[in-house]
Amino acid sequence: MNKYLESVIEGVRTKYANEPEFVQTVEEVLSSLEPVVEKHPEYEKFDLLNRLVVPERQFTFRVVWQDDAGNYHTNTGYRFQFNGAIGPYKGGLRFQKNVYPGIIKFLGFEQIFKNALTGLPIGGAKGGADFDPTGKSDAEIMRFCQSFMQGLYRYIGPDIDVPAGDMGVGGREIGYLFGEYRRLKGAFENGVLTGKGFSFGGSLIRPEATGYGAVYFLENVLKDDGQDIKGKTIAAAGFGNVTWGICKKATELGAKVVTLSGPDGYIYDPDGVATEEKIEYLLEMRNSGRNRVQDYADKFGVEFFPGEKPWGRKVDIVMPSAMQNDVHMEQAKQIAANKVRYYIEVANMPTTNDALKYLMEQKDMIVAPSKAVNAGGVAVSALEMSQNSERLVWTAEEVDARLHQIMNTIYNNCKDAAARNGLGYNLVAGANIAGFERVADAMLAQGVF
Ligand code: GLU
Repeated sequence: MNKYLESVIEGVRTKYANEPEFVQTVEEVLSSLEPVVEKHPEYEKFDLLNRLVVPERQFTFRVVWQDDAGNYHTNTGYRFQFNGAIGPYKGGLRFQKNVYPGIIKFLGFEQIFKNALTGLPIGGAKGGADFDPTGKSDAEIMRFCQSFMQGLYRYIGPDIDVPAGDMGVGGREIGYLFGEYRRLKGAFENGVLTGKGFSFGGSLIRPEATGYGAVYFLENVLKDDGQDIKGKTIAAAGFGNVTWGICKKATELGAKVVTLSGPDGYIYDPDGVATEEKIEYLLEMRNSGRNRVQDYADKFGVEFFPGEKPWGRKVDIVMPSAMQNDVHMEQAKQIAANKVRYYIEVANMPTTNDALKYLMEQKDMIVAPSKAVNAGGVAVSALEMSQNSERLVWTAEEVDARLHQIMNTIYNNCKDAAARNGLGYNLVAGANIAGFERVADAMLAQGVF
């Protein structure tokens, strides 16, 4: 491997050994940049790669909140502004009990390239808290969000850093966060957060955007492979916002999502999560705060597999859409043994590096990387920022058409970047290269800092 690349990766491995998720994404992204790094000695000259793996700025703050019984709890909030070379920092907030700097850094690093792929002016950032929303009342969620924003508000702004949702943060949380920001600032700066409710500057199609975008990306893959999405079966994971969007769009286009998963196991619905009642029930499950998918099986009388993951199912398309490192080597082997042709990552880094490598080596399998496939969410967030700046509201058709166009462009850019660098049809490397090139170009143009 290129000496400079190798030394940067080795440095990250040594320095951040206690942040394995961050090391994993750095290894995955940087190891695919070899052909571009070889072509550009100026990257080494200006130490671009070592700069890229250190956040430009990072904040940690205390979040104290009161539960309904009157007891106080203390959590830690984070916001890591990773790279602002191409636009204001942009990326979600994750509220989950296992959140620590290694998770925020992995997500923030991915976000740099994902955001660059959209072609829109947004830098990479991520934040969150080690707060577990499971079982919390609405009032507790509100108090937590208000306290979180008291810690965060001084670091963000419509031209500085624009957070949004991620796991544990949906429309309800964004509403509470925005309310507190507005109260603290005494100004209606609604471009400071995206994923807002429609009545105060949210964009139509934003809730659906990640799932719709993933299906638009999938359609591109299928089309190049001479296939149609109609009649295909899909194994999805999770049951949150992203999976909801996938179910809606896949159903509309005649495909069938047959699995969902949760921390408690997975469900198999041979008829597909394909009626309006079933699809809308996903949102009800999410808002219940119970965080279990068994409720779906109980309600619709389908099979539930406690403690299991859906990757052993024989389907046409696998879409891991729940969380990081959901698919390990053992499951990758199962997927390959089932002769699945399309492995379309949706959640951020859903595959371990060895499993991803294994899947990419299967000659009859097409692998698409999450940072390209799920970029529709943040892309529509950027469109929400545009609408807030213009003080205008776009129609659902207009937003959807732009999203569709953006996903087509992302797909083509990934494909071209790989081909240009002699890597054939390698969407994983192509996504890393295409995202990186844009950011690297902007960093070089702006001088060394
Ligand atoms: N959390 C989403 C992601 O992983 C969306 C971020 C955003 O809209 O800013 O890309």
